[in-house]
Amino acid sequence: MARSAIFCLLFLATNASLALLYPFTLSRFLMVASIYAVGTLIMLYLLFHPRNHWLVSNRYRVEGAGCIALTFDDGPNPVDTPKLLDLLREKGVKATFFVVGKRADQYPEIVRRAWEEGHLIANHTWSHYSLFCFLTPARLRAEIERGAESVHRICGFRPRLFRSPVGQRHPLLRRYLENSGLEYVSWSIRSRDTLTWNSEVLARRILKQAASGDIILLHDHLPRGAHVMLEALPVVIDDLRARGLKFVLACPRDVVSVATPEPAACESAR
Ligand SMILES: [Zn+2]
Repeated sequence: MARSAIFCLLFLATNASLALLYPFTLSRFLMVASIYAVGTLIMLYLLFHPRNHWLVSNRYRVEGAGCIALTFDDGPNPVDTPKLLDLLREKGVKATFFVVGKRADQYPEIVRRAWEEGHLIANHTWSHYSLFCFLTPARLRAEIERGAESVHRICGFRPRLFRSPVGQRHPLLRRYLENSGLEYVSWSIRSRDTLTWNSEVLARRILKQAASGDIILLHDHLPRGAHVMLEALPVVIDDLRARGLKFVLACPRDVVSVATPEPAACESAR
């Protein structure tokens, strides 16, 4: 809570610095501009850097020599997620799906299929609200809880892992995740598949960076379709496998499949 309070103070102080503009002089303007820029840059770093631990501790690597994890966000998608599941089955690869609760409720059979085929299902909030870092406390709690309830309804367990939209942090996220028994999982490789239109470029970008321990961020739901990722993925899988890397889940399935504890029990079991 202390860090949340410090963050709020930083926010207030940065904005309050604008009051120093009165009476206006050039030297005052330069001073306020400097304070505002530094305060804003620090806040942006704390809210948006995917591996920053200050507001929420998080894991962005997997353990085990030679292990690597594929993670797919924003699904399920009625067209692309089944194609992805077919591909993963053909290649014998297990992956972690960070599903959006309201989409999961719309296509529960796809999420259930992913779980039954050995993949891991994790919480990517209820609605994937794009300004996640500005949510009110009540809405933040609802986004986390409704996302978890959706997975519980469909697969019969409460998810253990959480990732926020675009990796955004929130000053209250640490506390709410602890209350819900959730661990924040980030990534070490951002594939930028959302911005890439060429599958060769995408495959090359991933393969250039990928190494043992990496968690790779990909998307199985995109407004324009995930065909670029689906074309790149076989190349990526074959190449990484040829290097001796083994595909693992972001956390073992038995951690979530053993029981379906309520948040308090989950908390004490950690
Ligand atoms: Zn997302």
